[in-house]
Amino acid sequence: MTSTSNSLIRLTAAEMSAKLRAGEITSVELTQAHLDRIAAVDGTINAFLHVAEAEALETAAAVDRSRAAGGTEAESLHPLAGVPIAVKDLIVTKGQPTTAGSKMLEGWMSPYDATVVEKIRAARMPILGKTNLDEFAMGSSTEHSAFGPTRNPWDPTRIPGGSGGGSAAAVAAFEAPLALGTDTGGSIRQPGSVTGTVGTKPTYGGVSRYGAIAMASSLDQIGPVARTVEDAALLHELIAGHDNKDSTSLPEAEYPEGRLPAFVDAASAKNVAGLRIGVIKQLQGAGYQAGVLARFQEALERLRENGAEIVEVDCPSFDYALGAYYLIMPSEASSNLARYDGVRYGTRVLPEEGPLTIERVMGATRAAGFGDEVKRRIILGTYALSAGYYDAYYGSAQKIRTLIQRDFDAAFEQADVLVSPTSPTVAFPLASKLDDPVAMYLNDVATIPANLAGIPGISVPGGLSEGLPVGVQFLAPAKQDARVYHAAGALEQLLNDTYDAPLWAQVPALEEVTG
Ligand code: GLN
Repeated sequence: MTSTSNSLIRLTAAEMSAKLRAGEITSVELTQAHLDRIAAVDGTINAFLHVAEAEALETAAAVDRSRAAGGTEAESLHPLAGVPIAVKDLIVTKGQPTTAGSKMLEGWMSPYDATVVEKIRAARMPILGKTNLDEFAMGSSTEHSAFGPTRNPWDPTRIPGGSGGGSAAAVAAFEAPLALGTDTGGSIRQPGSVTGTVGTKPTYGGVSRYGAIAMASSLDQIGPVARTVEDAALLHELIAGHDNKDSTSLPEAEYPEGRLPAFVDAASAKNVAGLRIGVIKQLQGAGYQAGVLARFQEALERLRENGAEIVEVDCPSFDYALGAYYLIMPSEASSNLARYDGVRYGTRVLPEEGPLTIERVMGATRAAGFGDEVKRRIILGTYALSAGYYDAYYGSAQKIRTLIQRDFDAAFEQADVLVSPTSPTVAFPLASKLDDPVAMYLNDVATIPANLAGIPGISVPGGLSEGLPVGVQFLAPAKQDARVYHAAGALEQLLNDTYDAPLWAQVPALEEVTG
């Protein structure tokens, strides 16, 4: 890899956009630099399940031709035209395989594009490929992928978070400047936290879910993965908006006024004077590593010094959030995953002996096609929904969901944004929690309440502990996504002032690790 391409991949997406527009670089150079990087380091990282070299270069060359043509053809290019992007393999793409990290969909090609993919194609962003994830987005470490784990660029013996570990690791390792993720219980924010990247879960309904393979439909949300708050805002702006194909998409009229230019401006401002920041009492203390809590307190201190008003908010129902999530999520997932029956599409496995009845083909297909974590959740979900248990489990979980929403409503009376560590720990060693599902679930204790309430959340790097990234999460009321960008952008800038280089630039050089 040449030093020029090495410096190209270390630019932010906003800088790439500016250099493309100024004609200082071409999209082909930029895209090739990322493809070279993928070739050099992805053998170690395993962030990509599919690399779309030819398609990405073709898109890049077409953007370069439009730019060279000048006039309206060049002027009408989207600011992100020519900036490459990676897509979580839970989001369907025409012409590229989509696996959801499962053998169930190995070799399957979607006949259509997700709405977010249509949008990035319309903006003419070269799609580098599809990123690894826990099977059907169930997990917090990307170790439940049927195609091997992704490794954390900060330390390849550790997990990159999950389920979107592939997207986060690709962005942290400079394999892509931007990526798309999905967040049902934290799968954008928690990987962001442990890889030192920025990830946003938008307001539920703020970004179309059409073409995101459904896990738990009342919780799922697509969002941006980036290295800086500004870059996340730029991508968020592109993918947001009403979509007739998603019945849960917010009506256009309900979007906050001037929604996204405001995100971008706010992201670059350090000014937090008068911003009321509520520290969630329940999301700290026992179970959180000392180093995580130390960085969190320092982050609060930076914000306080710069004029923010820090208050403590009490959200007593959050103690039950994890329990409620692990009933609602498996219940919805067990229903959504019923479609993988070996009949309509995807993998089909025939029973080894005996009659070929439809039940037996379905049984053999689902036994071979799904991994252990997916099976565990299908069993949990069908049990929770079964007659006689429905009220006791699913019904109670829905009541807790309402209580959590009320806790948020009360907290937002006292504060403009809420804050917590994103994840209770830094990245843990591979295989260390794989045999203990509950220990794995606990990684999402701080991210899950936002999904249960449908509100926006962001994770932004808050410093290092044991040489590994720590994430700080900001939450805002529904449709106030601009507020999380404002708070996170301010913290990012304030921390940048205290370091020689931005946190994302401090990731160890992988070429040294990989040789
Ligand atoms: N880690 C959580 C889970 O396993 C969240 C997953 C997600 O957000 N897709 O369910």
